[in-house]
Amino acid sequence: MADWDRQRSRLADRLRSRVSDETVLAAIASVPRHRFVPTDRRHDAYTDRPLPIGSGQTISAPHMVAIMAELLDLSPGDQVLEIGTGCGYHAAVTAELVGPENVYSVEYHASLADEACDTLEVTGYGDVSVRAGDGKQGWSEHAPYDRTYLTCAAPEFPGPLVDQTRDGGVLLAPLGDGQQRLIRAEKQADGTLNRADHGGVRFVPLQ
Ligand code: SAH
Repeated sequence: MADWDRQRSRLADRLRSRVSDETVLAAIASVPRHRFVPTDRRHDAYTDRPLPIGSGQTISAPHMVAIMAELLDLSPGDQVLEIGTGCGYHAAVTAELVGPENVYSVEYHASLADEACDTLEVTGYGDVSVRAGDGKQGWSEHAPYDRTYLTCAAPEFPGPLVDQTRDGGVLLAPLGDGQQRLIRAEKQADGTLNRADHGGVRFVPLQ
């Protein structure tokens, strides 16, 4: 077994204390995080912490990606909208769970979107769709989504994202200006959100 593979399966094992969904742990054990981080950070790719990825942005810590995947309760075939592609790592983990062709991701910085596309392509997740633009507007062409999540912190769930999520679907985001809370919301038939607070978190702000 190659050293990267060994490090990655050890990381997935360590996350078992925080995440019980075995399909999520298998996804973490599959996605080559070292291919997504900048070359000079590769040695840290399988430590459980966020890393800088350029343009002042960061790749989330693996445990946060795993916790979000578990909270989203993803199944094969779910249509998923991600806001904040970054380096594409989180999108790849989601792709493991729902299938790459079902993942749509919007990234504000065109340079990051381009790089993420290239990395997703060479790592076998080329069917993930990435677009550069303002994630607050969502991606209406492929709506409705079963699941919508943000990897950057917003004051509130942006209206277009709520609209583009189907009734009975789930939204997940870090919400708050200063102190952020990870909020999971189920969209009710009347369009209102049924929220649950999953604790304090720290993400880069939505632009
Ligand atoms: N999921 C990413 C983590 C990205 S950090 C990964 O696995 O690497 C959050 C990302 O959100 C950054 O790349 C940032 O540029 C992006 N972002 C911030 N505001 C945004 C907006 N309004 N629309 C889309 N993306 C945004």
